Amino acid sequence: MGNHADASANPDKKQYFYPNRMGRVVLLAMEEILGHAGVNAVLNLADLPVYINDYPPYNQDLRFPFTDISRLQTGLESAYGPRAGRGLALRVGRTCLKYGLREFGPELGLTDLAFRLLPLQTKLKAGSEAFATLFNKYTDQQVRLEWDDKYLFWHIERCPLCWERQAEGACCHLAVGLLQEALFWVSGGKFFEVEETKCIACGDSACTIQIDRAPLS
Ligand SMILES: [Zn+2]
Repeated sequence: MGNHADASANPDKKQYFYPNRMGRVVLLAMEEILGHAGVNAVLNLADLPVYINDYPPYNQDLRFPFTDISRLQTGLESAYGPRAGRGLALRVGRTCLKYGLREFGPELGLTDLAFRLLPLQTKLKAGSEAFATLFNKYTDQQVRLEWDDKYLFWHIERCPLCWERQAEGACCHLAVGLLQEALFWVSGGKFFEVEETKCIACGDSACTIQIDRAPLS
């Protein structure tokens, strides 16, 4: 995290970032779900026309601000309404996994045969730890995992999706979609109940995604 522009000048105003290629993954997933015109409409409503036809490059530079990630979510809701926007954000999140694996698959190290043959709960544990490490190591997003007998809790303690946002209900739907798809992939095709139960935008100290450890199918 050493290459942030003037973050040290005023620590209260510290900015946080995703690497460029992760911003690119989000925009590519949005384009797949919304179409080219749809993503442009969202970018205009989010006051981010700078990205129209000019997505961030495929590199690891920490340059895609949390404010932009958050504005993409509110832009989506402005363009399609809160209800449809929520469904679309879930789908964008699921689609992010495909592009994300293309970019980050090697870093995750979950693709070899030995991993696939592990028992389900072992895969869940190793898989969620690998995903959490990816965010903690390569982005300014902070994730903490917690387990009990029934649930895995994915606590996003610094969350770009609802960055500087206030909302009536939990609003980090993209993370829910991403985790649903990641669990589907890690488990070799099982569906899990995934729900955001706490959200920083609602005044909670973290955005908590609760995952039922027993698959639905
Ligand atoms: Zn959040």
